Amino acid sequence: MISERTNQIGVSPTLKITSKAKAMKAEGIDIIDLSVGEPDFPTPENIKQAGKKAIDENFTKYTENEGIPTLKEAIITRLKEDLGISYSMDEIIVSSGAKSSLYHLIQVLINEDEEVIILAPYWVTYPHAVSLAKGKALIIPTKEENDFLLSPDQLKSAISPATKAIILNNPSNPTGAAYKKHQLEALADIILEEDIYVIADEIYEKLIFDNFSFTSFAALGEDIKKKTIIINGVSKAYSMTGWRIGYAAGPAEIINGMAKIQSHSTSNACSISQKASLEALTGPQYEVSKMVSEFQRRRNYGLMRLQAIPDISCFKPQGAFYLFPNFSSYYEKEFGGIQIRNSYGMAYYLLNEAKVAIVPGDAFGADNYIRISYATSMENLEKGMDRIIQALSQLKAAKKVRRVALNNTITRVKKLVPVEADINLKMRDALVAEVENLLSYENYFEWNANINGVVVQLRTNISHLNDFWIENWYPAQLEADLEPHGIIYAVDDIKGREPRSFYNSETKTGILINTDNYGPCRSLALNLVMDVSERLFNVHAIRGMSADIKGNGLILIGPPGTKKTELFFSLLQDKIFRLHASDIIFTRHAGGFSSADCAERKFYLPTNTVETFPPFAKLFDHSKCENVITRKEDCQNMDCLRQDDCRLDRGSPYCYKASKEAQAMLDPYWIDGPAKHTKRTTLRWMFILRYDSVSPPIAKLEIEDALRILESGQSLGISKSLSSSKNQPFFNPHLLSSTAEQMELHSKFFQHLLENTSCYLFNSGVASADELKKIVLGESQIK
Ligand code: PMP
Repeated sequence: MISERTNQIGVSPTLKITSKAKAMKAEGIDIIDLSVGEPDFPTPENIKQAGKKAIDENFTKYTENEGIPTLKEAIITRLKEDLGISYSMDEIIVSSGAKSSLYHLIQVLINEDEEVIILAPYWVTYPHAVSLAKGKALIIPTKEENDFLLSPDQLKSAISPATKAIILNNPSNPTGAAYKKHQLEALADIILEEDIYVIADEIYEKLIFDNFSFTSFAALGEDIKKKTIIINGVSKAYSMTGWRIGYAAGPAEIINGMAKIQSHSTSNACSISQKASLEALTGPQYEVSKMVSEFQRRRNYGLMRLQAIPDISCFKPQGAFYLFPNFSSYYEKEFGGIQIRNSYGMAYYLLNEAKVAIVPGDAFGADNYIRISYATSMENLEKGMDRIIQALSQLKAAKKVRRVALNNTITRVKKLVPVEADINLKMRDALVAEVENLLSYENYFEWNANINGVVVQLRTNISHLNDFWIENWYPAQLEADLEPHGIIYAVDDIKGREPRSFYNSETKTGILINTDNYGPCRSLALNLVMDVSERLFNVHAIRGMSADIKGNGLILIGPPGTKKTELFFSLLQDKIFRLHASDIIFTRHAGGFSSADCAERKFYLPTNTVETFPPFAKLFDHSKCENVITRKEDCQNMDCLRQDDCRLDRGSPYCYKASKEAQAMLDPYWIDGPAKHTKRTTLRWMFILRYDSVSPPIAKLEIEDALRILESGQSLGISKSLSSSKNQPFFNPHLLSSTAEQMELHSKFFQHLLENTSCYLFNSGVASADELKKIVLGESQIK
């Protein structure tokens, strides 16, 4: 299991698009790649020769940790001659790429919870580098109309006592914006006043157009130099991305800290690359100017093409090799009935339709934009622009009223609410009086449900709950003289009250306050029904998933995290199994048998069941749904977010996998017709689930052992984060009240059930549905 910290780091989106483009290329598709962040020029010959010479001279061993002295001296000379800043040897460190310098620097500088100001659009690595150091990234947006520059006022208001540093990328990836000297000075005044550090990422310093005069932040004066750490390297200016040489220049104390970290992470940067970089910095510089003038030509060309596209704006970059046009007016449009929606949608559209790879602006914290790199040949840029323009012209205005088939209700309350399951009569009466006040004629819904023979009346002012209630259960007569066994009040809009659930056993009354989610309403109803039917009919409810095989039933019981749903639905893929119940199974014992009933007309299923059973998606499309995610921003599926296959990005108006809280009311007969579902079975097997990688796959349980596990409801072998915080007796979260008398009744019931069934402890971390099938088929001799 990887750490939570790692879990939260997304793969670089540039990498995602580039690797998808590469995979398409490998399939023989002619892709134009405008997503790359490296010059297309070869490393100049003299630099390559220096590398070769280093190998020939066996300069292939560890070097000084902070870099070879000659290279550090060359860096000092460049900083002095090109930028007018003086550094000593202990103020320079050479690393494996500028990225590595940056990472070490942030580790040295930032304590837990200290803030680092990052300007959006930002280079994708900054926020992650900060969060890996347990710092907090404070993202401050800059605007196209302000040339993507930070104003002194913005800086001032962003700084708080928690601020430790600001990252200033000048010129910027992805916008190409660069600061003039006076603009930097205005920022420097504030930085000195507030005493924060500046991480000056100046890696594109040499790639500057239109005779723009570049000023390094550290060149603004001796005082600001003490607060500035320059990050730079040879990757971009000398077309040496793969050689991995970067450096940092700053106060000796900080550089020394970086050296300590480096000594334990990468050690010295590659010896051969250091020699080659020495040549890059000390040898002839005309290749750099050649490259810059070629980039300027391409920038001008790209800008000219973009300016000709209707409804697109593009800032004129002063440096780097990217164009960052605003494409948002095309997000409203659609192709083949699918709306673009956002920068990811645009990136996928351009990749699939135009066969051009670009990077979505969202990766840089600016979703209205896309990044086009012109660090590719002019020929590619021309072709790429042709294709982009052609693809944009194919987009049509999306229909104003888009019919989304989904019948989805977003509720305010998403999950379980606190329960007080044994309120006294006085409190019950007071609560009923309070809620009845709000149940006037208008907006009042009442419906009697027949839940396994127990009549429960729902009284509510929440139409969504009424809808789901009617779908979930079979109806009972709704007549004035029919006395329900119990009543559930579910009332919203009560001022000053938190969402909460109450139950009074004496009067069989449930009261749900300010809770518009169906889950708590259903649980309250099930608790009521269990309370009634245990006492009146000696019928008990088991929380689990059950299937039938030729009249013989098996039931899976287990806490969250034991992969019950996955196991259940993979079992059901075999035609021999029929679906019985998905959550609650009403069971009675008679004549040595335990017969089990499914009381639900429709199943309240989490929509992420589609992950194990994709055909459900089609069925959910026609079902009533609750809290299905419709916007990427709301997606909570971390695994999915890390992958490169988002439905919402591809223009889908909803995603069933994006949240664990999304539910649908699925008619079990829709799954595969009447042959696949049965309402009644006779229980023969019980599988109590555990989930770990070491315990035996399957162990037969004696009655006492099984009963002990069930009574304690303790999760076996599941990590704390997955198991519910509280043990649930009988693994049944619908048992809201648990008096000693009820627990006694339950234990007796399960004792009896265990006598009528074979019970196994099943480790779903090791064993699969096939093993479970073998037991069932073997024992029953059913072939
Ligand atoms: N900073 C910025 C702004 C960059 O764009 C890049 C490369 N994409 C780097 C740092 C890292 O450069 P290096 O290859 O030296 O690690």
